Amino acid sequence: MDMLINSEKISTDKRLDIINPYDNTVVDTIPVADEKIVLEAIQSAKHAEEKINELTSREIYYRLSDACEDLRQQKEKIAKSITQETGKPINGSLYELDRSIETLMFAAEESKRIYGENVPIDAGLGGNNVMAFTKKIPLGVVAAITPFNYPVNLAIHKMAPALAARNTVILKPSKEAPLSGLMLAEILAEHFPNGVVNTLTGFGKEIGDIILANDDVNKISFTGSVPTGVHIANNAGMKKLTLELGGNDPTLILKDADIDKAVADIINGAYLFSGQVCMGVKRIIVENKIIDEFTDKLVKQTNKLNVGNPMDKNTDIGPLINNNAVKYVDEVVQDAVQLGADIETGAKVKDNFYWPTVLSGVKDNMKIVCNETFGPIAPIIEVKDIDEAIKIANNSQYGLNAGVFTENIHDALKCVNSIESGSVFVNKASTFRTDNMPFGGFKYSGMGKEGIKYAVEDMCKTKLIGFNLN
Ligand code: NAD
Repeated sequence: MDMLINSEKISTDKRLDIINPYDNTVVDTIPVADEKIVLEAIQSAKHAEEKINELTSREIYYRLSDACEDLRQQKEKIAKSITQETGKPINGSLYELDRSIETLMFAAEESKRIYGENVPIDAGLGGNNVMAFTKKIPLGVVAAITPFNYPVNLAIHKMAPALAARNTVILKPSKEAPLSGLMLAEILAEHFPNGVVNTLTGFGKEIGDIILANDDVNKISFTGSVPTGVHIANNAGMKKLTLELGGNDPTLILKDADIDKAVADIINGAYLFSGQVCMGVKRIIVENKIIDEFTDKLVKQTNKLNVGNPMDKNTDIGPLINNNAVKYVDEVVQDAVQLGADIETGAKVKDNFYWPTVLSGVKDNMKIVCNETFGPIAPIIEVKDIDEAIKIANNSQYGLNAGVFTENIHDALKCVNSIESGSVFVNKASTFRTDNMPFGGFKYSGMGKEGIKYAVEDMCKTKLIGFNLN
């Protein structure tokens, strides 16, 4: 596929292969943007600001709704592309498209609800006889930088609220999985004036550093890893930022938990898209009184999962994104084993596949649970009581989501009040998100919130307008 700048397809001689991680075949190629092209994309978006500003809220609503209908029409094709470029099992890709359609519709609806407010300015000294109100106005040019794991829905979480609030956008998808995001951008671009939606492909750091240094870009909305997010935060200057970064989510299983319910949810939470999910269950913290029963049941359910071709509707576990990812996961599993953890099941490696793995005897200082492990691993940490469980849950630089299983309301309240994360769910694993809820982590998991209503607020600036009535 090619880039899109000012509604023209842009190619380059230098191109990158997009590899299907299932069989290592080349799915397609993408151009590599150089500095000149990146600056052209920024200028295209800058010049289009005026054009999107001329549209009424009603027109924005209909354009986003029509784009949503086109996305619905192309659902099967784009889902197939996600599976080819990421190895995500096809049911997961189709579900991502269902969510994406809903996310885009939430944005269309939100475009009609961007309100300023009356300001009671006469409550302040000197405010007599002044009438004032605020207006929400666009930021200007928004750069949307996205990761490989949810290439369509995360691109919508950035582009759609940006457009709803009358900004222009430049999408920079991951070079591992850019195709489905580019397809989405082409759909959106067709419904807006030339230059409102642009795309850039190539190397993240090269493109990113030019965007970071350019004052015509007003906001960076980034989803990706902590190191890249920290680099962006350190170099963004006066740009507005939303950073949705990595996670190391804990799920606590307390002694009176409904174990079957917890196991079913952990199976989804730890192994969804082979664990390559920011809010995946990355640390399972279990009270010692129930640990044997919990571990036995988790192993039994893990062994039922089908590992195989991600295009097959019966597949639960496909390949990881590439072989380096497999090597990293194996390295941290072996490190944990060296330090005393036991493999209860899994830990088998073949090509780009890593088998779903239950590890017991994990300590909270092992690499596998200190850093974010993007693999199908269920690491079990044993604790003596709720206080130790909370202490371990909070012993992390991350704070995205968390879950707690308990039938005791007092323990549930203690956990929701004490766990330091952007969301805490009771009797649900951490791996839960709807696309209208405020989503975004504490600590190094990020800053700002997505979830369409919250993202739209962050895509605007507030102007105060006052009239002297004397
Ligand atoms: P990544 O940080 O390697 O890349 C993300 C994007 O940033 C890519 O488009 C990449 O090309 C670009 N990039 C790389 N260097 C850059 C630079 N210097 N300046 C600007 N852009 C640059 O992340 P990834 O491996 O694609 O994705 C996995 C990570 O994303 C995990 O850490 C995961 O937890 C996180 N994630 C977070 C959320 C969330 O909502 N919090 C959701 C999904 C994924």
